[in-house]
Amino acid sequence: MKRYSVFAVAREAMNWHTGWERAWRSPEPRRRYDVIVVGAGGHGLATAYYLGRNFGITNVAVVEKGWLGGGNTGRNTTIIRSNYLQDPSAALYEKARSLYEGLSQDLNYNVMFSPRGLLMLAQTEHEVRGYKRTVNANLLQGVETRWIGPGEVKALVPIINIDGPRYPILGALYQERGGTARHDAVAWGYARACSAMGMDILQNCEVTAVRQANGAVQGIDTSKGPIDCGKLAIVVAGHSSVLAEMAGFRLPIESMALQALVSEPIKPCIDVVVMANTVHGYISQSDKGELVIGGGTDGFVNYTQRGSWQHIEETVRALIETFPVISRLKMLRQWGGIVDMTGDRSPILSKTPLGNCFVNCGWGTGGFKAIPGSGWAMAELVAKGEPGPLAADFGLDRFREGRFIDESVAAGVAH
Ligand SMILES: Cc1cc2nc3c(=O)[nH]c(=O)nc-3n(C[C@H](O)[C@H](O)[C@H](O)COP(=O)(O)OP(=O)(O)OC[C@H]3O[C@@H](n4cnc5c(N)ncnc54)[C@H](O)[C@@H]3O)c2cc1C
Repeated sequence: MKRYSVFAVAREAMNWHTGWERAWRSPEPRRRYDVIVVGAGGHGLATAYYLGRNFGITNVAVVEKGWLGGGNTGRNTTIIRSNYLQDPSAALYEKARSLYEGLSQDLNYNVMFSPRGLLMLAQTEHEVRGYKRTVNANLLQGVETRWIGPGEVKALVPIINIDGPRYPILGALYQERGGTARHDAVAWGYARACSAMGMDILQNCEVTAVRQANGAVQGIDTSKGPIDCGKLAIVVAGHSSVLAEMAGFRLPIESMALQALVSEPIKPCIDVVVMANTVHGYISQSDKGELVIGGGTDGFVNYTQRGSWQHIEETVRALIETFPVISRLKMLRQWGGIVDMTGDRSPILSKTPLGNCFVNCGWGTGGFKAIPGSGWAMAELVAKGEPGPLAADFGLDRFREGRFIDESVAAGVAH
């Protein structure tokens, strides 16, 4: 793989840009791999990348039914933060956030990580108490957040309406190194690095069955034929229950549509990420000038990638209350993704009842921010067969043992 650098850009400029090579190869499947990762979203690709980088396992295929990054990874609103309440979550999300800080250098690919600062608005007394508690927990966890009053909120976000009308802003939980990254670039950067290590990324290759013998995984059947493997990692977000059924077990996951929309592009007017969870809406401005707006999940289980009308109306209404200056903006595009929700709103990184088969799912509405940390922890689980410290609390057994990691305040909102 030729490295990207300022010298490469200059060399190619002299060369009429004819020398750039494809970012990743598109090979035909081999008969067998040591590890197959199903799902070329951010989590699947990051799992493969850290398998190679941290454990030297490179005989790996990432199998994707569509195009890489075409699932939730290419559909989210790109918010990155680690201000979670429970210790295991804070450790995992902060690991991810800290890896994001150096990810462009690590992958030699600009993922456009922008730690512009993130505010979670408190608009009820209940939220004030909840977020102050989270700030205190974050202090103990080594996650840098702080509580700020309405004056500082207004100074950071001049277009905000502090006074209401329904819910005045009472303060905010502020994470200065939270922000955004370019979602496609995260998938593309990991894919390029995996391909450079000799891994195969098999797009347009749908898994249709999981083959097993003597209680352990043997391989998969795909739309491009059967492929054998030593270990299987299922990392397919909204389709996790479908893959689990193929492998012969059930998951405590509900799949629902979550949607987002962007406005027409306007001049820069908001340079932080703002989440307003009581009225429910969150907003940031993209480099192109569009306001990126996130809504809520549908209230019923479904596999559509569209989302329903009432969310658009409710979300836009909530944001106009908070940012009246945007009331005349036209909305440009709307789309949806299928998110995988657990009961405690925490992810699953786990061994499964099928030998040598592992699952990474349950990131629900908030897994983009976790991609590097999740890949790091999942690679360790797959390589060693046992979870390391980051994944230890996120096993499937927690649902049987009643050991929930309750993040319904930090993660029960869409972001
Ligand atoms: C509208 C929206 C907004 C969001 N906003 C945020 C946010 O601001 N911040 C945040 O942190 N998170 C956010 N999220 C959540 C985040 O996008 C997801 O948690 C994360 O992208 C999940 O990544 P993944 O790699 O697990 O799944 P995906 O990116 O969905 O990848 C799974 C892949 O598996 C493939 N697959 C499925 N079945 C098969 C099969 N049978 N064979 C082969 N391949 C298969 C799919 O095609 C897909 O590409 C949002 C999600 C949505 C939908």
